[in-house]
Amino acid sequence: MSTDPLIEVRGLRKAFGDNEVLRGIDLTVPEGSATTLLGPSGSGKTTVLRSLNVLETPDAGVVRIGDASVDFGERADARTRREEVRALRARSGMVFQSHHLFPHKTVLQNLLEGPVQVQRRDVDSATADARALLEQVGLAGREDAYPAQLSGGQQQRVGIARALALKPQVVLLDEPTSALDPELVGEVLAVIRDLAAQGWTLVVVTHEIRFARDVADQVLFLDQGVIAERGGPEVLTDPREERTRQFLSRVL
Ligand code: ADP
Repeated sequence: MSTDPLIEVRGLRKAFGDNEVLRGIDLTVPEGSATTLLGPSGSGKTTVLRSLNVLETPDAGVVRIGDASVDFGERADARTRREEVRALRARSGMVFQSHHLFPHKTVLQNLLEGPVQVQRRDVDSATADARALLEQVGLAGREDAYPAQLSGGQQQRVGIARALALKPQVVLLDEPTSALDPELVGEVLAVIRDLAAQGWTLVVVTHEIRFARDVADQVLFLDQGVIAERGGPEVLTDPREERTRQFLSRVL
């Protein structure tokens, strides 16, 4: 059996104009583990996450998820690159800060869009899977509701179910609770905790330090486009680096 990590990133670089946002990121994520990306605002966390799904195109570096990999520093003809990117994207499901649900579609229709329209899966089996996912995120019985009829926390839980409906190898979550009213944060974090407990591979950008300490197998602390510190959850209680210490003292 292979013991390769599920995700491997080497030498990831990205600039927006003169702004060098990622300055050589290396990371690995073992299958079935939860990784949290923490660090000050603007340190590059979201750009790392979006690069895994090629929502941002890195300037250089290799991103591999499972058996799909793209070397962004290497020239490729447009068609080959498009095919590589499509394969890499298919390995992950993304949960955004605000849920991006289709407002004119029901919850169930939102969940079926990717599996049926994009993945061409059979409607009956995709529907059965979607109902099971809604139950898993605590929304059984709400499949005919429209997003506007749900609370922000419920909408975000649909957003999580929608990412899972694609049967990805990894779920990428970009500050999944930061757009929510404080009283709705807990229900969404509870669903993510459940996913971690069930063995989903997760990469989460978050400011929720306590949540990170609870679920993270790996903590990556970013500062100015580099990983300044990495380790297990003990990084959050006993950081070695001054930059991490300062960040934690500001947010805790
Ligand atoms: P974080 O998630 O740690 O807050 P980001 O990855 O969102 O950081 O952003 C890192 C830096 O990149 C910031 O300075 C931000 O302004 C810049 N940036 C992010 N996305 C874009 C973009 N699409 N165009 C220009 N600059 C961007």
